[in-house]
Amino acid sequence: MLRCRPALVSLPVRLIARPCSTASKYAGARKFQPMAKSKKQKAANAIPESVLSLPAHASALELAADQEPAPVIDTHTHLLSTYGWYKSKYKDDAACQTIWDFVRTMCMPPASDVEADAAKQRTRRHKVTSMVDVWCEPASWLNWREIADSAVEGSPQKADWGGCEYWFAMGVHPHEAKHYDDKVEGQILEAMKHPRSVSWGEIGLDYHYSFSEHDVQQRVFRRQLQLAVSLEKPITIHTREAEEDTERIMKEVIPRDWKIHIHCFTDSPDFAERLLDHFPNLYIGITGVVTYTSNLNTSEILRRLAKSATSSETGKPLRILLETDAPYMTPSNIYPSLPELGAKNPRLPLCHPGMIPWTAEFVSNVVKDFQSLSTDAVLRASAANAAHMYSV
Ligand SMILES: [Zn+2]
Repeated sequence: MLRCRPALVSLPVRLIARPCSTASKYAGARKFQPMAKSKKQKAANAIPESVLSLPAHASALELAADQEPAPVIDTHTHLLSTYGWYKSKYKDDAACQTIWDFVRTMCMPPASDVEADAAKQRTRRHKVTSMVDVWCEPASWLNWREIADSAVEGSPQKADWGGCEYWFAMGVHPHEAKHYDDKVEGQILEAMKHPRSVSWGEIGLDYHYSFSEHDVQQRVFRRQLQLAVSLEKPITIHTREAEEDTERIMKEVIPRDWKIHIHCFTDSPDFAERLLDHFPNLYIGITGVVTYTSNLNTSEILRRLAKSATSSETGKPLRILLETDAPYMTPSNIYPSLPELGAKNPRLPLCHPGMIPWTAEFVSNVVKDFQSLSTDAVLRASAANAAHMYSV
């Protein structure tokens, strides 16, 4: 993912590209590497930003007249990076000049829709009611308090969120483990006291890139887990190609009943099952990467989850949390909803929380052999899990 240097959130954010998420593994996300000046990327740069506002998802239009669309909760996003990415694409012409403009524009139904078709669009469109923003790179932490304070009840800026509830997690990403020290730890401990703080994370192990030595990653992961448990905080975990060590450390340090979100899960289905079996309050994070043909693991995990849910006497709900991990991993099934992109079908330059319904639609299709869940039902299941996991 991107690395943001400190900057005022109302001003363009200087970005330093770094392949720090699962994104670059997947063809659908390679275009987001800013140094690659491919034809596709040039085409993406030319996409008018109005396209990013997205049309209503079809599932919302199909609901009965007295049904409100399900609430959309993005349980893992990187808001500052996403806004910084947007500003780097659209620069001074950008319609959203602050991070709050961006959230209102991308996450809430546009006023023009309401005026154009008040009877349908106003109630037939998803709203992003909550997001969990993740701060995991210490170099970008200058802005966290300004953003979090603006979301607190009673803040004069509360209305700037347009009705979207902002929550956050903080922790040191495994790539950044080598930068973990007493000062950084003190910053996290301070942030954990904030009324909008809901989790310690994302923390974990990443042996795909190995930007920090493995022993350093393990030591920092273990330390942060111990602190999170001592503070009774839910935990957000990043794990990639480090199954054995992640599982061993988690089982050694985290009590079984802890609330855990394994975000953007792409490792083996057997690993997911072992974690789900051991930790009854653990959830599997599903991003747009589930839609990519280069990733089959996540769909297989969904099928196993759906199968076990239907075979259970108690009818367990799907143990998933929908997330974007924005600005990466735009769901690939979004493009048929955007005919204005034309026959050349250029890719969108970024992903944002408003895209969650397309990921839910894909999940609905993947599990249909085992569970009949509409897109709306998938969104509601994830929202209920988010309420349990993060109290959002
Ligand atoms: Zn992330």
